[in-house]
Amino acid sequence: MPTTSSTHTPCLIIGSGPAGYTAAIYASRAGLKPVQIQGPQPGGQLTITSDVENFPGYPEGITGPAMMEDLKRQAERFGTDLRYGMVTQVDLNTRPFRALVDDTDEVIADTIIIATGASAKWLGIESEARLNGHGVSACAVCDGFFYRGRTVAVVGAGDTAAEEASYLAKLCKKVYMLVRRDQMRASTIMQHRVLNTPNIEVLWNTETDEILGDDVVTGVRVKNRIDGSTQELEIDGFFVAIGHEPNTSLFKGTLDMDQAGYIITQHGSTKTNVEGVFACGDAQDNIYRQAITAAGTGCMAALDAERYLAEKEVEELA
Ligand code: NDP
Repeated sequence: MPTTSSTHTPCLIIGSGPAGYTAAIYASRAGLKPVQIQGPQPGGQLTITSDVENFPGYPEGITGPAMMEDLKRQAERFGTDLRYGMVTQVDLNTRPFRALVDDTDEVIADTIIIATGASAKWLGIESEARLNGHGVSACAVCDGFFYRGRTVAVVGAGDTAAEEASYLAKLCKKVYMLVRRDQMRASTIMQHRVLNTPNIEVLWNTETDEILGDDVVTGVRVKNRIDGSTQELEIDGFFVAIGHEPNTSLFKGTLDMDQAGYIITQHGSTKTNVEGVFACGDAQDNIYRQAITAAGTGCMAALDAERYLAEKEVEELA
């Protein structure tokens, strides 16, 4: 397909969550004239979160969408060229790098900051999508607080689910853990913790049939996979913890990744295995996954890109 426009930028930022916007704020203030491509979900995962109460600087809390709007305005204030669209192709083999937005608009970039984030995996049932943000969540640390003293369910049986269940058990009256097999995938220590927490009840061989409630979650209908019996549990919150997927498929085969697809960065920096390409936020972090840690690595990526460009300039002058 022929390209309809072409731009050359010292710094292309792909993604618009806290990592991408923070990288944009730093890069634009450093005079890198960044072009930022927002991606399929402008604002990232936080735009599907209700209140954010753990991001420093908002003593009264703020909604996820409002916070992302603040970050966006801050990035634009310093001249970030923010564009709608999705990077559909990228060539990291030759410098300057070349990216195509929506298959038509070309961006030539001296450096690239990847801030494409990760997406929570969902069960895929209708009620889950309908009640998302109204009792259905994929982040206990973000939303658990709202269920203090209430009853919730966590679906999943890996380390994330075990961690979320343990976290929620400290806040909630009762936590059901819905495990689809007769065993958990979580590490032994996490399983031990879950099984020894009095207010966590593990329901084995249990799958989610439907989340119940018209406007907010009021319950869940679960099905026993062995005998096919169903039961309804009264709950106020439903937490999906069946894993995350980093949004990195565009870079497969070019950038070093771990088995789950998270981009590998050099320790203590955001450098990838391709010189001039930096990765930040959840695309390279499967451990912390917080808005504030994503913002921190976004800042690092912009500083790394700035230093890289300065070094290249010195090399060219020598
Ligand atoms: P995992 O892929 O390890 O686990 C996903 C879990 O969700 C599995 O138990 C799986 O069940 C279950 N699941 C998947 N699909 C469904 C479904 N449709 N219905 C019900 N259950 C479902 O993901 P995690 O996010 O837990 O962990 C990812 C990686 O991050 C792991 O390597 C983990 O060790 C690591 N991690 C480490 C932490 C730590 O060290 N503190 C904390 C969190 C994560 P099944 O087992 O039947 O396939």
